[in-house]
Amino acid sequence: MPELPEVEVTRRGLAPHLAGRLISAVAVREPRLRWPVPQAVRKLAGRTVRAIGRRGKYLLIDCGDGHLIVHLGMSGSLRLLPSGTPAQKHDHFDLVLGDQTLRLRDPRRFGAVLWTAGALEAHPLLAHLGVEPLSRALAPARLYALTRGRRTRIKQFLMDARHIVGVGNIYASESLFRAGIDPRTPARRLSLERCAALSRAIKETLRLAIRAGGSSLRDFVGADGHAGEFQTRTWVYDRAGLPCRRCATPVRRLVQGARATYFCPACQTR
Ligand SMILES: [Zn+2]
Repeated sequence: MPELPEVEVTRRGLAPHLAGRLISAVAVREPRLRWPVPQAVRKLAGRTVRAIGRRGKYLLIDCGDGHLIVHLGMSGSLRLLPSGTPAQKHDHFDLVLGDQTLRLRDPRRFGAVLWTAGALEAHPLLAHLGVEPLSRALAPARLYALTRGRRTRIKQFLMDARHIVGVGNIYASESLFRAGIDPRTPARRLSLERCAALSRAIKETLRLAIRAGGSSLRDFVGADGHAGEFQTRTWVYDRAGLPCRRCATPVRRLVQGARATYFCPACQTR
């Protein structure tokens, strides 16, 4: 499943190719995605793409008088291809920009292509999203304030998009290791100092993943469109029983909210 770093790498890779381009045609081959592709999307020809932004895992293509909202779901990918390239199975949506075409492939159809002419922050899919982890908004004091009164374990707190967006399972485990925090710690017990360590760790973890994905930038501009598999070396994730890379204590695995959590019982404390 594409996580926030993959989506951000996609955004950065596409931005220079999309901004300022005229939409010459739109093709919706399969409107039955996670939600039906609205009719308004078929009428975008003639508009110019201004910019491509991101909120959580939603890509926001600014078309001047509204935004195309694209989500990659479980299996979606976006590619830029020479216009006229024959569509294959699972190629559900095209935004034709003259001689180049932005194409969505999504075998499992959990992705989305939506349109809004209204304020983005008021859109039902975006209105309740939490803080952007890579933005300045995720400052130590903000994380401290967000965690007050929260009995939830910090690992599950981090993965709840109503608090912070885009910290998936791998990144939550890795960030908590970097910050030296036991994943079972109740969120409200974190001191301001530990919130500072954690916000720093989240940013570092996501930035490393984005950097690792940067090497695959070319891949989805003209090639197979796969920007999803980042080869990052993890500290604890998926390393149950293996020695901690910092202290050699065996890494432990436990299940929290039906998701596997990995941590070092020596390096990470409550
Ligand atoms: Zn350790």
